[in-house]
Amino acid sequence: MTYSGLIQRYRQFLDLPAHTKIVSLLEGNTPLIPMPRLSKELGCELFIKFEGLNPTGSFKDRGMTAAISEALGRGAQTVICASTGNTAASAAAYAARAGLRSIVLIPEGKVAVGKLAGAIAYGAEVIQIQGSFDDALALVVEITQKTPIALVNSINPFRIEGQKTAAFEICDELESAPDWLCLPVGNAGNITAYWMGFKQYQKGLPRLLGVQAAGSAPLVLGHPVEKPETVATAIRIGKPARGEQALEAAHESNGRIIAVSDAEILKAQQILASEGVWVEPASAAGIAGLLAESAVGKFEAKGQKVVAVCTGHGMKDPAIIADSFAAPKSIPATYAALTHLIEQK
Ligand SMILES: *Cc1c(COP(=O)(O)O)cnc(C)c1O
Repeated sequence: MTYSGLIQRYRQFLDLPAHTKIVSLLEGNTPLIPMPRLSKELGCELFIKFEGLNPTGSFKDRGMTAAISEALGRGAQTVICASTGNTAASAAAYAARAGLRSIVLIPEGKVAVGKLAGAIAYGAEVIQIQGSFDDALALVVEITQKTPIALVNSINPFRIEGQKTAAFEICDELESAPDWLCLPVGNAGNITAYWMGFKQYQKGLPRLLGVQAAGSAPLVLGHPVEKPETVATAIRIGKPARGEQALEAAHESNGRIIAVSDAEILKAQQILASEGVWVEPASAAGIAGLLAESAVGKFEAKGQKVVAVCTGHGMKDPAIIADSFAAPKSIPATYAALTHLIEQK
């Protein structure tokens, strides 16, 4: 059967209103990539759910197809969101597809270049806010309460409906839920959606390992973080909108939410790339958490099936790699110079 997007595929499991008019870029259906080397190192059976292979390069497309389809069907003409970048690119793409106007608010100077470029390419009106993501979110909530502009952040329940489909896909592919699901936690919509999805699908329940960046870890600290900091800009969020639900999901699953340092995140990014999967920094947080727990003996790996969700593509944030390396060596265009250089290594 031809794949026609995740709403078509999972419609019967999604609580979407009858007025929904499907807007799809054939999102979802992302690969579950086995990681033999990392599996061996950790002593478990590890898979990466590579969400960076969605149409705009992040899992945000799952929720966005649902949110934009609902908004279009309801007659909305303009959509708005606050974003650390990926939501902006996704909202812009699906709004463009639907013929809607899109406005995105981003925290000034803190958005990775691949995300900003995407939002602009898809035609969003991009506005920088002299504040944090949390400030931007408060503004879009206010404007959508006072005007007919539609909110497409993950506090929109239809975003969560769409995002549940990642859990369905994992269960379909493995024929049951994994033992563990590891994923980054920012505004906490995704971990909430996965947990709802697994519960609804009734193919077993994983334990959840939610991972925050140490400089932006409100759910680990137990209080909001006024000035969140981390290289993992997608999870640079101090006041998660679905924080309570995330804590509840982790608890209910007999799992936990932990924090890892930026150094651990970048190391995990490098380890993933060394096995052929390049993800943006935030997306490596799940693996960073798994490695950290394993190192202190808190992860009982033996015989466990583990899925780590890699939420966005490495190409979203090229600067993080480019800035950390010297420019490639430059040589004369001669065979002698080439062999000389290569033999040196
Ligand atoms: C949005 C995002 C996250 C965080 O997801 P939440 O639902 O906000 O917890 C993590 N990684 C990437 C790449 C993202 O775009």
